[in-house]
Amino acid sequence: MQASHALRQYAHAYAQAAAEVVAESLWPTRCVVCGALGEVLCSSCVAQLPFIDQARACPRCGAPFGQHQCCECNSFSLKGLGRSCLPFNSCVSAVHYSEDVARIVRARKDHDERRLARVMAFYIACAIPPAWMEEPAVLVPVPGTVAALRRRGFDHGLELVKEVGQLIDLPVKSVLRVAQTQDQRGLGRQLRAQNVSGRFSVQGVGVTHVPARVILVDDVYTTGSTVMAATDALREAGAAEVFVASFARV
Ligand SMILES: [Zn+2]
Ligand SMILES: [Zn+2]
Repeated sequence: MQASHALRQYAHAYAQAAAEVVAESLWPTRCVVCGALGEVLCSSCVAQLPFIDQARACPRCGAPFGQHQCCECNSFSLKGLGRSCLPFNSCVSAVHYSEDVARIVRARKDHDERRLARVMAFYIACAIPPAWMEEPAVLVPVPGTVAALRRRGFDHGLELVKEVGQLIDLPVKSVLRVAQTQDQRGLGRQLRAQNVSGRFSVQGVGVTHVPARVILVDDVYTTGSTVMAATDALREAGAAEVFVASFARV
């Protein structure tokens, strides 16, 4: 009995490996940036990623080069988003949003190259300051709309956060929901803020315990209006501290 079970497992593993070989022959893995054969993101393209120097970034909003004087979270810039201060405690991003980075983000989200989630998660995990994890923290994804979920066929936010959680050994809680919003792409700074303002909610308050310390994870930080609106919902539901980590920063 045990022998036949082992045989079935072996046959299954063999069939899976054979299918992977066939798939690799028909659709060989290519770097999404340069097209080189072999890896989904090749090592020379990784070496050229525009990583953000965290020592020179703004310690509050994470803007590159904003360490001493930040033009992205000063009162004038925040006023443009309808805010007087940043709602989250602090934000970090791993890379600048360059053309190559945009290709990586799009390849995962819109062209179904889901192996990139692990790659992006690795750099997010590297950017998260160890101090954020000194207290028990929980990772929360920024949810996509129902329309985006239907279009892509998978929850890209949750998938990315799960990979980050595995790498830094933190639990994941998908507690946020978002009402239908217009696609943020193509909207200006003010319109983005208006589009997402008040659209997030925490599911099942009273049932779902919102942890005191949350690390909100998103793939791209553009104007910050999305993570700010998500932070508002988490704070309303009882989160005392909200940190934000993203792969790329526009
Ligand atoms: Zn490459
Ligand atoms: Zn700043």
